[in-house]
Amino acid sequence: MRAWPVLLIAALTTAGVAAWAVHSGRVAVPPEWNPWAPLDIAAEPNWLTRHKLRRLAKDPALCRAVLSRDALEHTPVPDNDLGNGCGWRDAVRVDDARFAPAFTLTCKAAVSLAMWERHDLQVAAMIHLGARVTRVEHLGSYACRNVRGAGGEGSRRSQHAAANALDVTGFRVADGRRVRVLTHWLGDGAEARFLREVRDGACHFFDGTLSPDYNAAHRDHFHLDRGSFRMCR
Ligand SMILES: [Zn+2]
Repeated sequence: MRAWPVLLIAALTTAGVAAWAVHSGRVAVPPEWNPWAPLDIAAEPNWLTRHKLRRLAKDPALCRAVLSRDALEHTPVPDNDLGNGCGWRDAVRVDDARFAPAFTLTCKAAVSLAMWERHDLQVAAMIHLGARVTRVEHLGSYACRNVRGAGGEGSRRSQHAAANALDVTGFRVADGRRVRVLTHWLGDGAEARFLREVRDGACHFFDGTLSPDYNAAHRDHFHLDRGSFRMCR
């Protein structure tokens, strides 16, 4: 008799027992390594982070519980479904000074934004610019419109139509500097390296991350969304 079917059954049984033990609480696992524990925005991201972000997208109550005011100043807003592919559900008003002026964003995207700011943006700013980012400059989130390509507006609704995306144009730094996607993306200076690192970092927390590398329509901003398509460019 071949050994591999027996080994496979043994491995699956062991994995099943281990999962049951963790899920039922019989084995204590730190929350960041427990796939059933809610996401903690302050905890260092790991390979379970994307799984936990996906869970929030399906569980509005869990998302609201995870998005603490410590992580991002915000207030919940009522659902506003306009029925034409526009409007929002499970959204918050982000009224945080670091992201002024205020805007409406889905809770799941707001959690991604808080994770990106804390674990990527500020780290990259200290490495490449030697100072913290004090303000994220943006074009806002909600717009009832279709996806824009190089040839104009297409036929598919944009993630902005569901307040599920934010367009970031640049950053104010504590030393008074201003880093802009339009003027600093091309180049090899510290600002360009910072912008490339924060674009790459956004891909860990958002589903769609589009930069000037994607097309000319994004030459002056990063598009960050929590839609159903994974794209990092
Ligand atoms: Zn956009």
